Amino acid sequence: MPARSYHVETLGCPKNQVDSEKLTGRLVADGLIEASEPTDADVVVVNTCAFIDEARQESIDTILALADVRREGSRLVVTGCMAERYGDELAAELPEVDAVVGFGQSLLGPGVIATGAAPPSLSVPVLLRPRVGTAGGELVAGVPDFDLLNLPRPAASAPWAYVKIAEGCDRACGFCAIPSFRGPQRSRTPESILAEVDQLGAQEIVLVAQDLASYGRDQGVGERGLVPLVGAVAERVARVRLLYLYPSDLTDGLIDAICASGVPYFDLSLQHVSRPLMRRMRRWGDGDRFRARIDDIRRREPEAALRSNFIVGYPGETEEDHDALLRFVTDVELDWCGFFSYSDEEGTYAAGLDGAVPAALVAERLAELRETQDAITEHRRADLIGEAVDVLVDAPGVGRSHREAPEIDGIITVPDHLPVGDIVRLTVTGAAGPDLDAD
Ligand code: SF4
Repeated sequence: MPARSYHVETLGCPKNQVDSEKLTGRLVADGLIEASEPTDADVVVVNTCAFIDEARQESIDTILALADVRREGSRLVVTGCMAERYGDELAAELPEVDAVVGFGQSLLGPGVIATGAAPPSLSVPVLLRPRVGTAGGELVAGVPDFDLLNLPRPAASAPWAYVKIAEGCDRACGFCAIPSFRGPQRSRTPESILAEVDQLGAQEIVLVAQDLASYGRDQGVGERGLVPLVGAVAERVARVRLLYLYPSDLTDGLIDAICASGVPYFDLSLQHVSRPLMRRMRRWGDGDRFRARIDDIRRREPEAALRSNFIVGYPGETEEDHDALLRFVTDVELDWCGFFSYSDEEGTYAAGLDGAVPAALVAERLAELRETQDAITEHRRADLIGEAVDVLVDAPGVGRSHREAPEIDGIITVPDHLPVGDIVRLTVTGAAGPDLDAD
């Protein structure tokens, strides 16, 4: 009998991409091969994102598009955050879907897809609470079949790879639904993370988690967990990069460990700077504290690159709050910034707050912030002309220095003949918006 084939479509953030690679590893271990096209696959998997309205719509559009083109007799399986959060609704409203499975449930389990393969072994689940999935349109109670977090994955296909070091989050930010469906934080052991790093064989490892700086806290170690982990990964690979740092956990020890890792890149999850609004967001900090920390990082490492994300239009955001954020962005001149409009998430604290900001005003504020930051990014990039940079060649003609996170920031155009995977010292010769040229 010819081997059955799969196609996995991934939406959303880097954390989802890691989950997809692990799911792929699992499907391969169960004897499936990758289909050349989704239209040829026996099993079509959509790993969804439920972050905001736009992401949910994109997930649904993708599911429907694949339902249209998949071949007769194939199975369409939906997993990821939307499956976890809206499993029942998806099952009821999308008859095209054969199965909706939560995190850590087997895509090939009984009643989901019959393959004749041996059932997956039981191990520590990623999610510790019961969930609901569907099989053939019928709702079934689901228990986790395997530990997605610690599941092996294939060797990296690029010179860099994401590694997820923890799942879930113990915080309660007003706007965020993640803790409600990803559950409390569970950190992986350093041994399992380092084994994955070794097996990926990448030059650059990007560590990700919902709340990275809290790594190890659920094991009672906190910062004493992340600092040695960064050091241990840095001993194995040329570069280690950290994404999503909650600012209160950015201790001196962690700043030093990041600077010593070869990638002085700080992705600070700030979200806003107005103190009263931050309290409404149920988050730590304010503009003054953030400035002090950023100044401190730059004092220790003048080459440090900084990124952050901000939410615009959180309920109750006043003109003064917006002006404070605009001033902060203008003054601190971060290298990269993402601005997102607030979206009401069912079941969150913020969804019950008054003071909704009209959509037109949010759009105006967003445009003002983006325009300001684009100009800052552009001039910070242009300032690098003439500087020497160590570039990791990601693909022919394309590379990144420590200042650019993969898939998020700009790129560096490099000579085509440079071997992929090499780290090469080059000189920046030009800049165009977020991107650089180097020779
Ligand atoms: S720290 Fe991040 S994942 Fe956790 S609740 Fe806040 S925004 Fe959500």
